[in-house]
Amino acid sequence: MTPDPRTYGERLQAELDALIIDIAESNDAGGSVELDQTRVGRLSRMDAMQQQAMAKNTRERYGIRRLQVEAALARIEAGTFGRCCLCRNPLDTERLDSDPAVVFCADCAEAREQGRGQR
Ligand SMILES: [Zn+2]
Repeated sequence: MTPDPRTYGERLQAELDALIIDIAESNDAGGSVELDQTRVGRLSRMDAMQQQAMAKNTRERYGIRRLQVEAALARIEAGTFGRCCLCRNPLDTERLDSDPAVVFCADCAEAREQGRGQR
């Protein structure tokens, strides 16, 4: 049975909306470490720097995830959703259910992982 892209589209759109809010909030948090002296005053400089590094990681993670979700939504638009981006075989429904933004089938993902390890 071919999965219905619209079902995943709704999930992806909801995730994208949530991500955009998270990104805006993490931007606020990152800025306040630098600017809010009253808050920084209670922390050591190391703590503040550590917090900033963590906020940066979080923002980067959100940013990457946002690109993945946006790419998946673009594939729904293009009508290529639900197929592996490498071998073009249909993706497992199980795989799509666990992550609708998944790009490769299990075989291709594994092959890529192994290729990376050998390099
Ligand atoms: Zn594949």
